[in-house]
Amino acid sequence: MAHSINPAKKSLGQHFLHDGTVLRKIVTVAKVNENDHILEIGPGKGHLTKRLLLEGCSVTAIELDHDLIIGPLKGIASNPKLEIVEGDARKVDLKNFIGNTTRYKLVANLPYNAGTNILRSILLSDLAPQLSVVMLQKEVARNITATQGKSNILSSFFQAYYHTNFHFNVQPRSFSPQPKVVSGVISLERKESPLLPKCLQHDYFLFLTCGFAAPRKQLHNSLSQGLRISIPEVKDVSSQLGLNSELRPAALSVEEWVAVFQKFHNRKYFLKPQ
Ligand code: SAM
Repeated sequence: MAHSINPAKKSLGQHFLHDGTVLRKIVTVAKVNENDHILEIGPGKGHLTKRLLLEGCSVTAIELDHDLIIGPLKGIASNPKLEIVEGDARKVDLKNFIGNTTRYKLVANLPYNAGTNILRSILLSDLAPQLSVVMLQKEVARNITATQGKSNILSSFFQAYYHTNFHFNVQPRSFSPQPKVVSGVISLERKESPLLPKCLQHDYFLFLTCGFAAPRKQLHNSLSQGLRISIPEVKDVSSQLGLNSELRPAALSVEEWVAVFQKFHNRKYFLKPQ
């Protein structure tokens, strides 16, 4: 009966995690304790929320689906340690809910369709959490945590600001309804000294999309195609950095990507209209 009242909404990526072992593992990775304040995105039917509250922490949970708030979440809404906020996690002003502190953790089973955007908007906001433990589609989770040799846009972007770790896979049978894909749980811990200031994040992300424009080609081909500049120009910058431009984009470390970005940023080369 409960299923027919609140059928899962595909458009909101609703796959509810009912596996107690996985819920416990997530809470363990996040090292949740009673002094923590947790931001949860998409509490859904409250499975992870209840597990978090058991640790004695306080939780602010942002949910987009009004039906879940007036339905399954109603049962836990009166818990004094829980605040449920109705809204889109990509748009809400975190200041209104977690105060002006960055001493909080993000713990969430993110919707597949909007997970990366939600993560980007919270992790690069002025009130970015110290530690985030999130579940995403496995491929996305692997991409964010990839190391040199498998570098990609997401790893080069997030790792400029965060230490990232892949923890474990979660099989479809742990959810209801079951997704078609395997999920992965990762953590992102804020770097004390990020490689770039936050004000450059949008330019850097745009630059990376240019840098990985042709990921199977050599760096000088990929960058010249993405930035619409000549190959000799890219070779010139690479040689100034002591970088072999015949490498594939995936072979560069995050530090090297940041260095290449800074060179082009200083030269005001990129952001040329495509
Ligand atoms: N945390 C629950 C669990 O583990 O069972 C539900 C996870 S489900 C994968 C994703 C949740 O995020 C859903 O409850 C969905 O309604 C919510 N959601 C989707 N897009 C959202 C957004 N932009 N802002 C806030 N919540 C969102």
